[in-house]
Parts: sequence; structure tokens; C-alpha cells
Amino acid sequence: MTSLPDLAAKTMQAHERLNAHYGVQEIYGRADPMHELIGTILSHRTTHANEVTAYRTMRERFPTWEAVRDAPLPDLIDAIGTATYPEIKAPYIQQVLIRLFQEKGTATIDFLHELSTEAAMKWLTDLPGVGPKTATLLLLFNFKKPLLPVDTHVHRVTQRLGLIGPKVSAAKAHDLLLRYLPRDATVLFNFHKHFYWHGQRVCTWYDPKCSECVLRTMCDYYQSGKTTVLSSTVGRRKF
Ligand code: SF4
Repeated sequence: MTSLPDLAAKTMQAHERLNAHYGVQEIYGRADPMHELIGTILSHRTTHANEVTAYRTMRERFPTWEAVRDAPLPDLIDAIGTATYPEIKAPYIQQVLIRLFQEKGTATIDFLHELSTEAAMKWLTDLPGVGPKTATLLLLFNFKKPLLPVDTHVHRVTQRLGLIGPKVSAAKAHDLLLRYLPRDATVLFNFHKHFYWHGQRVCTWYDPKCSECVLRTMCDYYQSGKTTVLSSTVGRRKF
């Protein structure tokens, strides 16, 4: 069994190789924080294109956050209809806005800058429709909090490398990987981005392109002849 210092060293080595391969990025948020927050609620099990259409239609029909909050529910459901489960997401959005107006008097989450990372996580994950993965994305990308979003790509690539065990869930991987990495938002942003890109482009779920992978010499899965059973890929189908 690999020791914790060895895993930390291996994690940093993988991080540095991907930094060299993809280039170090400055942290950038994908939208203003309120757009990002409501977008994450709309995005669950929804394509990016349909999420964008749902958000744009909602803002065209209800140009202010007060108007979204007070919209008749059937009208809001109709406006976000390109997202999946609009009948569930529309009440979530209105509950979030009601809470913001009651607590802060306005629809902004800029106050998260002032909260500790733990307090900001708690506030966000208490909201309906916001889980740990989307909260970590929002807090890292928009507020530069030192968190590591672990999506399906980060989970799969770190598990194939052997940075986390073969049975570790994505939720648990967040805490484990944070033990090996500095609590530095720029490092964590680049780690997330690079492992995400690597999982999309090279270490794909089906038929990873190991012959062109810069991590090949340090990859447990490759060294094992790709025989290890991993929780990040087991049970998934090719099509
Ligand atoms: S060597 Fe293959 S399995 Fe390992 S990280 Fe690279 S692409 Fe993925």
C-alpha cells in the first residue's frame, strides 16, 4: 500500500506534468456569481446548450430577479422548459431568491467572498438544488476558495493513476486529494481543469489513448494492463 507522503509526491508530479502539457491558467469564473448559481440549478442532467437557452428565456421573460421570484410558477416552468425537470427546478430557483431577498435584501451572493470556505460551502449546500460538486465549482471558479471539484473526469483519471483507491467515490475523492495538494486556489483550479481536459481528450472512459498520454509512466491502470476494476468506470456502458 502506497504511503501518504508517496501519494502526495505522485499527485504533485502528475499535476506538474499536466501543467507543462496544458499550460497554467489564471482562475476565471464562467459567469457572474448569480448567473452561475442559477445556471448550476438549471444544468442538472441538462446539456449546456439547453441550460443556456433556459437561462436566456427566463431572463428575457423576467428581466429582474424580483420578477423571477414573483413569477407565476407555471410561467416560470414554461420559461425554463428546455432544462430537464423544470417543474422541480422552477420552485428551487424561487426558493433561492426568496431566501436571498429575506436574508440580504437583494439578489446577490457576493457576500460569500467574506465567509470562510467551510461557511460558504454550508450556506450554498443548504440551498435547494445545490450539491457539493456544484458548490465547489462555484466557490473555486467565482470566489477563489481553495476547493477541488471532482467530476466524472477528475474521478476517473486520478483513480486510474492510483492517486485514490479503486473503490473511492467521487465525493470521498475530494477530501483525499485535498490532503495531497496545497490549499492554493490557483493550484486547485489548474488541477481540476487539467484532469478534466485530460479525461475528456486522452483518458476517456472507453478506450483511453495511453500511447499518447504524458502520465503513462506513472499510471497504475496502464501498468496493470488495464485490468483493475475501478468504481469510476464500473457499471457504465459503452453507449
Ligand atoms: S496512461 Fe492511459 S489510463 Fe493512465 S492516465 Fe494515461 S490515458 Fe489514462
